[in-house]
Amino acid sequence: MTLTNSFAPAGADSARHVAGLLASLGLDGPDVNGSLAVRSPVDGSLLAGLEPTTAADIDGVVSRAVQAFDAWRRVPAPARGELIRRFGDRVRMHKPALARLISLENGKIEQEALGEVQEVIDICDYAVGLSRQIGGRTLPSERPGHHLSEHWHPMGVFGLVSAFNFPAAVWSWGMAVSLVCGNSGIWKPSEKAPLTALAFAGLLDQAIAEDAQAPADLMQVVLGGAAIGRALAEHPDIAILSVTGSTAMGQDVLGRAGTRFARVICELGGNNAAIVTPSADLALALRAILFSAFGTAGQRCTTLRRLFLHQSIRATFTQRLIDAAQQMCIGHPLDPAVHIGPLIDERAFERMQAALDQARQQGGRVHGGERLAGLVGDGVYVLPAIVEMPAQTAIVREETFAPILYIMPYAELDEAVLLNNATPYGLSSSIFTQDIREAEYFQSALGSDCGIVNVNIGTSGAEIGGAFGGNKATGGGRVAGSDSWKNYMRRATSTVNFSGALPLAQGIRFELPE
Ligand code: NAD
Repeated sequence: MTLTNSFAPAGADSARHVAGLLASLGLDGPDVNGSLAVRSPVDGSLLAGLEPTTAADIDGVVSRAVQAFDAWRRVPAPARGELIRRFGDRVRMHKPALARLISLENGKIEQEALGEVQEVIDICDYAVGLSRQIGGRTLPSERPGHHLSEHWHPMGVFGLVSAFNFPAAVWSWGMAVSLVCGNSGIWKPSEKAPLTALAFAGLLDQAIAEDAQAPADLMQVVLGGAAIGRALAEHPDIAILSVTGSTAMGQDVLGRAGTRFARVICELGGNNAAIVTPSADLALALRAILFSAFGTAGQRCTTLRRLFLHQSIRATFTQRLIDAAQQMCIGHPLDPAVHIGPLIDERAFERMQAALDQARQQGGRVHGGERLAGLVGDGVYVLPAIVEMPAQTAIVREETFAPILYIMPYAELDEAVLLNNATPYGLSSSIFTQDIREAEYFQSALGSDCGIVNVNIGTSGAEIGGAFGGNKATGGGRVAGSDSWKNYMRRATSTVNFSGALPLAQGIRFELPE
């Protein structure tokens, strides 16, 4: 295992670095006197003290969003796409600075942060194209001289609550698509990554200021924790909510927004698995597994957490994984040699250790998992953990948001698929095989029950074109890709009678006396 602490500044320099990055985007430096403390997971230093939004502010924010919606829905969809094109151009121009900001605020390595900014650019391109394609169908009417068709209309105010681990991409999926669909937006970013939100929203505001048709309050940011998220969930004038985070958070939001029949798109927890069969290309599987399990320090919703190895390869492949994990470099996320940056905070470390303790009690053999104290300032750096388990015990079925990979043996493929499906979650899954029968079985109705079903690719790293999301306790939402735009619009079914007669559907007779 390579550890690196020789790179880049620690302490107050991170705050200066962030202020410089914001200035390069044409934005003001962050507040420092507010009560919402923003710390860098890289070294624990204080980056900002922001002024949080209060619950009393929410009515005013929503009422401005309602007014913005009224103006925006009148703008033709291709003209709405033009705003997203301008915003995407800005993001493209500032990609390196935005990626650095994400690394410093969130701790992910620069390569992954660049990937996250690229995802924002990609979804903007996608949404621009979509702005000329959203539309309904004409359907055959059973009645002569009738025209049966579907129309899609903007819904209203769109509220988005995002998690810390993808501080820009998740917002961009929902917001780019929702804006071309004609909604206005309110974004509550994670209280652990609000500076990234202010930077991206600031660039969008610059694009809005240049657009004669876009209203000023088209996309507002509100800052704070769960209480502000709850206020959005309960507000009667927010028509759609997209919430990304833990399953417990989604349940709370559904309880509040569901009673007022708001539409809620949930992107919640995952406990993703991969199966490696005897025919697999093991060199390919090894790289994919290490990236999926330990990339982003195990803090992706699609992180690989459970690995089922065929019993014939279990011992040798486990040893290869342990050896290869030792080659990974841990340290400052802006050091180009580093594969694994810090955990988000101390709480994440405590949860990781508690899970490893339970795994030991449930018969697990733990390799790694220790803290690397003092590696970069007060950042929380850990060795990734590989845990050999005798079976899929209770702790393995839980999502622990940390770099822990549980390994279990299997004998028959259908047994491995049942184990893959035996958690409350249903986000991402993979099989490594060169046997077409195994690959097809895994993708079939008898196979994985997840929203993402991959073959010879890890569980993480989805492309924006496919519908992204998961089933069961992952929430069932699809935020972007494929036909997910329909989640951001209301559908009207319309029948026009141009026949001059009045035939009723299903042949019902309703005659009045002459
Ligand atoms: P979290 O649930 O603690 O917080 C997520 C967001 O919800 C934050 O903005 C938070 O302030 C807000 N929030 C918390 N409680 C709330 C409540 N009761 N009502 C309204 N808002 C509330 O999650 P996190 O620690 O930021 O992120 C990690 C979790 O997110 C993991 O479970 C991960 O799997 C999940 N996640 C899922 C996806 C996906 O696409 N399925 C993507 C990223 C993260």
